[in-house]
Amino acid sequence: MTDTNVFWLPDPCPPWCIGVHSATDDLDIRRHDSDQLCNVLLTAMVNHRSDKALFASVYLVQGYREISPLVHFEASHDLKFVFTLDEAERIGTTLLEAVRQGTGTDHAPAH
Ligand SMILES: [Zn+2]
Repeated sequence: MTDTNVFWLPDPCPPWCIGVHSATDDLDIRRHDSDQLCNVLLTAMVNHRSDKALFASVYLVQGYREISPLVHFEASHDLKFVFTLDEAERIGTTLLEAVRQGTGTDHAPAH
């Protein structure tokens, strides 16, 4: 639970934040963090660094002075992308479109 006297937090946490905040938090941890939003086994990728399987995970991070979160996309801590919400939406939409085309479910409705 977050201390109600956290001076660096002028507003309540966003609904997705699972962080526990304190007035003594260092600058680099003054942020809101989401839980892991997915953890997908990447069966088509080979981990060249170890025998361990690769997983993709997504989560949100918002610095205490930022007006919106960034989307973090990580593959087993080896590969990491950070997107703005707009960038993540564009990539997500494109990925969905690629899935629809790949599965053959991208047929435009008949007019
Ligand atoms: Zn928070």
